[in-house]
Amino acid sequence: MKKLFALAAIAAAAVGAHAQDFPAGKPVTLVVPFSAGGPTDRVARDLAESLQKTLGTTIIVDNTAGAGSSIGTAKVARANPDGYTLLLNHIGMSTMPALYRKLPFNVENDFEYLGMVNEVPMTLIGKPGLPANNYKELTTWINANKGKINLGNAGLGAASHLCGLLFQSALKIEMTPVPYKGTAPAIADLLGGQIDLLCDQTTNTTSQIEAKKVKAYAVTTSKRLTTPALKDLPTLDESGLKGFEVSIWHGVYAPKGTPAPVLKKINEAIRAAMKDPAFIKREEGLGAVITTDKRVEPAEHKKFVAAEIAKWGPIIKAAGVYAD
Ligand code: ASP
Repeated sequence: MKKLFALAAIAAAAVGAHAQDFPAGKPVTLVVPFSAGGPTDRVARDLAESLQKTLGTTIIVDNTAGAGSSIGTAKVARANPDGYTLLLNHIGMSTMPALYRKLPFNVENDFEYLGMVNEVPMTLIGKPGLPANNYKELTTWINANKGKINLGNAGLGAASHLCGLLFQSALKIEMTPVPYKGTAPAIADLLGGQIDLLCDQTTNTTSQIEAKKVKAYAVTTSKRLTTPALKDLPTLDESGLKGFEVSIWHGVYAPKGTPAPVLKKINEAIRAAMKDPAFIKREEGLGAVITTDKRVEPAEHKKFVAAEIAKWGPIIKAAGVYAD
């Protein structure tokens, strides 16, 4: 018995020692649960660059896309809790529990929370050649084309899906949802005219709007944005959809049970990124707002996600939509 205790103590000390050395020159994988080139991927790659400087190791971005981020999120829930596999996900962490009747993980119990990174507004955009040139004309076009409109999203449970659901329920009009594995393929099809409308993060829509490759109708924030290419777009709220507001936040997670010293190092590196001028410049250029408040603290991040789950659950349930 004594021997067993001694062995357990040695094993615990070894884990502790490894945790102190983290990352010990070993690469860290940051899972992005959406396809490469999309908004979540961009945030992850910007963050990875900054984390690499602080942690002194390579961060590999792994795009495990599909099912509105639930596949990549499940991969991290199952990963070794050693700090070498992390997740960057967005508001989907709080909408998946209501949108999916069965999830292979529990958002609140199966992860360590490592801090929030930013918030990103969304824009409602249309395919090139859509006859509507502003929001008012868009509503006329929608009313004239009921039953024929294809509304893209980055997967059932994605932020674009959520925005689309809220938009349809506010208009009391149903459109045909067309799911992709992320925003990058959805925008490609919008540009090709295969889908009519998409509501997605400014991270990817702004450059398309600037280049006049898509039609831009409105922003989803409560106030107009200041980004030059977007500043003339009305909010959906001022356009008649009272109370319409969605902003997409991103946070970092590790599998439950990751040792505390490892979590501390990663959180410190995330906080360093929030002060890294190169990271700030890249993010602001994409229309993102860096987290400067308490939500960069793990406990506050967790509290915020719990509040978001409580906020979106009833809205999603009232809309009567499920991803499975
Ligand atoms: N923006 C996407 C979404 O609608 C995901 C992505 O590709 O980053 O959730």
